[in-house]
Amino acid sequence: MSSLPDAKPVNSLSEEPIGTSQRNAPPPDASVWQRDLANAVQTIPELLAAVDLAAEDVPEVSETARQSFRLLVPQSFLKRMQSGNPHDPLLLQVLPRGAELDVAPGFVADPVGDSDARQAPGLLQKYHGRALLIASGSCAVHCRYCFRREYPYSEAPRRLTDWEPALRELRQREDITEVILSGGDPLMLPDDRLAWLMDRLDAISHVERLRLHTRLPVVLPTRVSDQLVELLLKLRAQVVFVIHANHANEIRGDARAALRRLVTSGLPVLNQAVLLKGINDSVDDQEALNRALINTGVIPYYLHQLDRVTGTGHFEVPVPRARQIIEELRTRLPGYAVPRLVQEIPGRDSKTPLEIRDAAR
Ligand SMILES: *Cc1c(COP(=O)(O)O)cnc(C)c1O
Ligand code: SF4
Repeated sequence: MSSLPDAKPVNSLSEEPIGTSQRNAPPPDASVWQRDLANAVQTIPELLAAVDLAAEDVPEVSETARQSFRLLVPQSFLKRMQSGNPHDPLLLQVLPRGAELDVAPGFVADPVGDSDARQAPGLLQKYHGRALLIASGSCAVHCRYCFRREYPYSEAPRRLTDWEPALRELRQREDITEVILSGGDPLMLPDDRLAWLMDRLDAISHVERLRLHTRLPVVLPTRVSDQLVELLLKLRAQVVFVIHANHANEIRGDARAALRRLVTSGLPVLNQAVLLKGINDSVDDQEALNRALINTGVIPYYLHQLDRVTGTGHFEVPVPRARQIIEELRTRLPGYAVPRLVQEIPGRDSKTPLEIRDAAR
């Protein structure tokens, strides 16, 4: 493997910073998922045509919003949208809307204090025992509410040698027992680059767990290939998947099959969701989502209160309503099917639970 670093040209398909890349032809040796990625929809007319909607059906659609954060939707995710429904919960997660241009007080570029948490290029630490590595700056889907839509991804490591400072830091820091590969999406790395990185992390003996924060099994299910599962199962460290799905309709068809594959291969798979107005902010939506997850073998982990990033104010659900949803959900589902409602507050030692837990209430 030692001849690998930088021997290959940086793959422009998967290494472009979020929000900037244009459509690229896949390389001749591209794998299935890379071809699927190259076929992702990137324009508003294509997106609307795919779900059988005319521009008049969706008056809030905005080309200006698209220009500030590029539209990107893989075909697989598109297929799980309901044709002819301008309020489809999957469509609304990816559709650029004029409301993104509204200025909302309290909504800022870096609401979660990522810039202050930098330990080395591409390495963030906020919490005891675990550090987060920005393994890739890109994603297969662009979620309009993304808390990282304003993050300066061009600073993220691009070539394998650029990870050396982060790896050096991790080798010295024996207190770090878990490395979270995040981004962007770490599974946007091609298998050879991913294997290179994971092997080096795996070689650090105090790193007990390698966690993948990824939306790819949900939005680009072909990424869950035999080769991927094989490379993860070879590692010494325990691998943990934390996926990201917000609505039951996402856990269907090829995405459900990809998740089953991870689960049946023995890897723990958890889900985090973001509470989003008009998308999953009802008890029924949350019940359906979390049932779909547990019925697939995926354990609900966090339900995040929206991070207040510029351009996302229209997605925010007030905290009292969020609490009400989760409390009612608890009366409908087994305890293990109810995610923890949390918010990320800069400077805290963990995510902050928002649930009402006082027994005297
Ligand atoms: C959210 C987050 C984590 C993970 O927190 P857990 O509670 O362990 O899931 C780790 N590091 C950073 C920087 C984070 O933002
Ligand atoms: S997949 Fe995650 S990081 Fe990527 S755009 Fe969506 S929310 Fe943001």
